Amino acid sequence: MNSPLIGIIGGTGLAELLADQGGERIEVSTPFGPPSGPLLRTEWNGCRVVFVNRHGPGHRFSPSAVPYRANVFALKSLGVTRILASGATGSLREDFAPGDLVICDQVIDRTHRRRSSFFDDDLAVHVELADPFCSQLRAHLIAAGDGVEATIHPQGTYVCMEGPQFSTRAESNMHRAWGADLVGMTCMPEAKLAREAEMCYALVAFPTDYDCWRSPRPGVPDRATHRQDLLNEIRANLKRAAGRGTELLAATVQRLAQAGDEDCLCRRALEFAIWTDPASIDAARIDRLRPLVGDRLASRS
Ligand SMILES: [Zn+2]
Repeated sequence: MNSPLIGIIGGTGLAELLADQGGERIEVSTPFGPPSGPLLRTEWNGCRVVFVNRHGPGHRFSPSAVPYRANVFALKSLGVTRILASGATGSLREDFAPGDLVICDQVIDRTHRRRSSFFDDDLAVHVELADPFCSQLRAHLIAAGDGVEATIHPQGTYVCMEGPQFSTRAESNMHRAWGADLVGMTCMPEAKLAREAEMCYALVAFPTDYDCWRSPRPGVPDRATHRQDLLNEIRANLKRAAGRGTELLAATVQRLAQAGDEDCLCRRALEFAIWTDPASIDAARIDRLRPLVGDRLASRS
């Protein structure tokens, strides 16, 4: 059985936990600059994993500044085929309570100042994105959730806003009217780039509070009055939810190790997606992107 190498993108809590497992820190350089920090290659729950701390050591990258392209490219070049990501969000629904976990199935992308493709300057590439998260990985997460003591929602639509400011109340109400369930700032372009890199990608989102459509204290409309209380509550929810999210990821990587290296449609995302005539592509450009397109272009020439 092939032993899969799973990429994990997450936050500081997960970074500290995985650092305790030992392993090797790897500096990777990419055509898109350096990743958020050194990657950590280790073994977790019987599975080989490579971890990226999305916001970098010390949480120094804001959501708009995270080097998403370098992070995904670095994972791809190390041989990762599947990515499990986690991230904090605000809830847009009463029944998605702070502390719950959500295995997202849809995204609305409202980001507007991030580079969201590997191929901006090199090729015209149009991948399918109707279902932005891998259904096979989602199924593993859902099954692994049976053993985790948390309310886990098997579906959810995540609206990804640019930030770094939180929504206005009008935006929050609009996102709800659109049918979104969660609002966050980091899932895009990560999911798009994973698809372009022909990697499976799934996201465990954890709501840390209700977005501003809902007053956190019934009868008290002004959030500013209770800012310190609210912040403490969000931090406590974040810690609790992140702990549960980590438990879910740990159970999932164990399942993935047992399942071996399964094939998936995500790994053929570029099959019919490259519109540029290969003969017109500069060899140096192909070389630069070889971990992403090398095989595809070779098979067409
Ligand atoms: Zn997949």
